[in-house]
Amino acid sequence: MIKTDILIIGAGPTGLFTVFEAGLLKLKTHLIDALPQPGGQCAEIYPKKPIYDIPGFPEVLAGDLVDNLMEQIKPFEPGFTLGERAETIEKLEDDTFLVTTNRGTKHNAPVVAIAGGLGSFEPRKPPIPNIADFEDKGVAYIIRDPEVYRDKKVVISGGGDSALDWSIFLADVASEVTLVHRRNEFRGALDSVEKVAELSKLGKINLVTEAEVKELRGEEYLTGVNIKHKTKGDIAIDTDYFIPLFGLSPKLGPIANWGLEIEKNAIKVDNSYDYQTNIPGIYAIGDVNTYRGKLKLILSGFHEATLMCQSAYQRIHPDKKYVMKYTTVGGVEGFDGSKKEAKKETVKAII
Ligand SMILES: Cc1cc2nc3c(=O)[nH]c(=O)nc-3n(C[C@H](O)[C@H](O)[C@H](O)COP(=O)(O)OP(=O)(O)OC[C@H]3O[C@@H](n4cnc5c(N)ncnc54)[C@H](O)[C@@H]3O)c2cc1C
Repeated sequence: MIKTDILIIGAGPTGLFTVFEAGLLKLKTHLIDALPQPGGQCAEIYPKKPIYDIPGFPEVLAGDLVDNLMEQIKPFEPGFTLGERAETIEKLEDDTFLVTTNRGTKHNAPVVAIAGGLGSFEPRKPPIPNIADFEDKGVAYIIRDPEVYRDKKVVISGGGDSALDWSIFLADVASEVTLVHRRNEFRGALDSVEKVAELSKLGKINLVTEAEVKELRGEEYLTGVNIKHKTKGDIAIDTDYFIPLFGLSPKLGPIANWGLEIEKNAIKVDNSYDYQTNIPGIYAIGDVNTYRGKLKLILSGFHEATLMCQSAYQRIHPDKKYVMKYTTVGGVEGFDGSKKEAKKETVKAII
């Protein structure tokens, strides 16, 4: 069981910044995210796009913003459960919460901060009748650890960047890589398309276009796939893994069944104070919440995380009074012993 002070569901920009604000209050944090990497929409949807409305950054790539947030929170040593979706929540007798993921990992905390954005990104699954039977038994929709595929046979399907990039990467890892795509043209970046064509010529990727995986074979574990080709008919390929990479679509998912007040697919919160939901101890911050005038922007999430942490502190330490200090005055002291000292300088004031 993972125990922490604030359990954060969602490692997007809002969830990541919550770690920093909680850290200033000496509160420990742990993040759960359904994606294999932190960064939420910024990392998953638009890492190479420049953002222009982060205060103090005239222009910053979404991916760089995530890297900077990760650097900023490092001293506070947050825990991560990545590639797992928070599935159920239970209130325990000691007034704390038990959150269990779809893979059975249990987390316990007195405060839960839902920073779930548009929801957890669910893989788009191809319509193959028995695909669910082979999930985690040869079928994967997200590549968490490429080493799993070392010296194995892999069939990837899809025509976007994910399918192309992973085919290129796994060509040096797996014993055999087959890339199956419905069309001759790919949607991904041109240099990736060219690289796949080159690797195909070298025999390092078996490229099968104008084709779709229609059937999966195997007893308990996957042993092969049957492909339907537009002109050549059926092709049977033996494989250890089938990885359909057709993109991810966000869904509020299991959180919608946690007894929280929901309005238009978002969680209603008290924005006059601390972004708490209708269940005391559960907060909702960032894109996942709604209130009058809500703006789904990164800076809104940062602001909401800051206020939420103050309220969480009072809930965790009802007998202590926290006096807010500017970081320029108090500095930043990480749990790892690192210190960013406040500089004592004379401040000139014009009155
Ligand atoms: C193309 C594009 C451009 C944008 N440009 C800008 C811009 O210029 N400026 C700006 O301010 N905003 C912009 N935005 C919006 C901005 O990205 C969002 O406001 C921001 O990402 C919200 O952050 P968040 O942390 O609240 O949620 P998200 O970034 O959505 O992160 C939520 C995370 O929670 C996880 N999650 C959800 N449910 C669960 C669960 N049950 N279990 C585990 N994990 C879960 C998800 O996997 C996800 O990683 C843009 C968005 C898009 C799509």
